[in-house]
Amino acid sequence: MTIIKNIQEIIPLTIQGEGYHAGRSCSFIRLFGCPVGCWFCDTGYAPGDREDLNKLPRLSVDYESLREQLQSRYVVISGGEPLFHQDFEELLERLVGDDFEVAVETSGAKAFPFEKFPQVWVTFSPKFHATDYLKDQQNQTFWTNSQEIKVVIREANDLEVYEQLLDQAAQLGIPIYLQPEWSKKLEATPLILKILRQKPDWKISVQLHKYLQLP
Ligand code: SF4
Repeated sequence: MTIIKNIQEIIPLTIQGEGYHAGRSCSFIRLFGCPVGCWFCDTGYAPGDREDLNKLPRLSVDYESLREQLQSRYVVISGGEPLFHQDFEELLERLVGDDFEVAVETSGAKAFPFEKFPQVWVTFSPKFHATDYLKDQQNQTFWTNSQEIKVVIREANDLEVYEQLLDQAAQLGIPIYLQPEWSKKLEATPLILKILRQKPDWKISVQLHKYLQLP
């Protein structure tokens, strides 16, 4: 029996609301915990929300029972920051071994075993404009090995820190998405449209699940 500990949430069926696969139905596994501390975090790990962490659920689930809950063959693992999770690699191994199509969403705060899991779709969402935690720890391999890169935009200068890296990634054929930060979407969307005029191959990502009020 394989127990996966510290699961925050299992969503048996919803849609992927963001990035390249937006609109696809999926199952969603949210793993507990993230030390990164982005101020805009909408999953409970913003610095101002830290005192409420103990109120977040932490499930321990037998893998077989977890697998039975998944209603889609496309499974998205998110967090928190899944790469820090104690059972992350084991969960990945089991899902890949059971022929699920697996996607992982990460800030890149820790190395991902790209060589071991070439079939896993990695969405890299760099966050070092939003937190000091990542300043010296950003793992460079994400800029060349990820399947897509998604940057959360709130202000015009949020992009400055990444622009050269994003241009290089785009030249490698990695799709680039700019996503308005939800609480500032009315202000951020015109900024993104302005950027897209200069970067016609980049796209906007709009958190479709939130507009549809899906989990
Ligand atoms: S990396 Fe993700 S989960 Fe962690 S604080 Fe930032 S937005 Fe929240």
